[in-house]
Amino acid sequence: MKCTRCRKQTAEIELPWHNAAFCKECFQVFFRGQLQKAIRSFKMFTKKDRVLVAVSGGKDSMSLWHALLQNGYNVTALFIHLGIPEFSDTALEKVKGFASKEGASLKVVYLRNEGLAIPDVIRVTRRPACAICGRLKRYYFNRVAIEDGFDVIATGHNLDDEASRLFANLLHWKMEYLQDQSPVLPEENGLKKKVKPFFRLTEFEIAAYAFINKIDFFHRSCPLSKGATFSFYKRVLNRIEYNSPGTKMDFYQGFLKTLKPVVSKDHADAPENHCRICGYPAYGDLCSVCALKQKMSAR
Ligand code: SF4
Ligand code: ZN
Repeated sequence: MKCTRCRKQTAEIELPWHNAAFCKECFQVFFRGQLQKAIRSFKMFTKKDRVLVAVSGGKDSMSLWHALLQNGYNVTALFIHLGIPEFSDTALEKVKGFASKEGASLKVVYLRNEGLAIPDVIRVTRRPACAICGRLKRYYFNRVAIEDGFDVIATGHNLDDEASRLFANLLHWKMEYLQDQSPVLPEENGLKKKVKPFFRLTEFEIAAYAFINKIDFFHRSCPLSKGATFSFYKRVLNRIEYNSPGTKMDFYQGFLKTLKPVVSKDHADAPENHCRICGYPAYGDLCSVCALKQKMSAR
């Protein structure tokens, strides 16, 4: 089969929901087009803005870092070293390797230096690892963005992530989570603007991009993971997508157009205070991370 764009080269990547099959070169053009469309249509950032990209070493965040650099954006990556033995060091090696190969700017926060290494925190709090880890990552992304004067935080969430999260939230009518589901969360209440420039691209498309561009990413899954929360929903959506290409995007875009404007008005549960130590949004006197630090240091 010939590439549906250039009609000369042999097609290597088939994308049924776009009714297209691309050669490697035309796939890169397609990929860049989807990325730019997401960035522009949601006014995520411009080339004047300083963008902080959250990187874990995995394919999505590494591909986002690569794609934003290739497209001339002013990007710095932030890696949070979680203090998970072996896993965190290996992921950091990948991230450092990419930064030195591309001459890209990288910042690293070591949670162990904050007294908050994830294995220690879960031992003390007995809370699920991912709940604590997600909260700490969000906190330090925001903190670094504010302290170092970044305009926006970008994450590598893709269409599969967003559609499966939406699916799960709708199945269980989690209206409070639907409020915050968007490719763009504006800066408000001490939280920096957050964007998801890959929301128009699927996991498959990002994997193809990483492969074509020889991005050396970290393949291993986290030893503390109890199985990705939304992986079952992703599998269900993939079955539907297989029978009816384009459903994932229709589902997510439909939500943004029809339901999102209705649910996004109610922010009644947002914290009203700010932490007296760090200024992060808080329900009481201290934010949850400063309270956790005190708990950890009191051991
Ligand atoms: Fe953190 Fe959970 Fe992801 Fe591991 S799987 S990195 S603990 S959020
Ligand atoms: Zn605080």
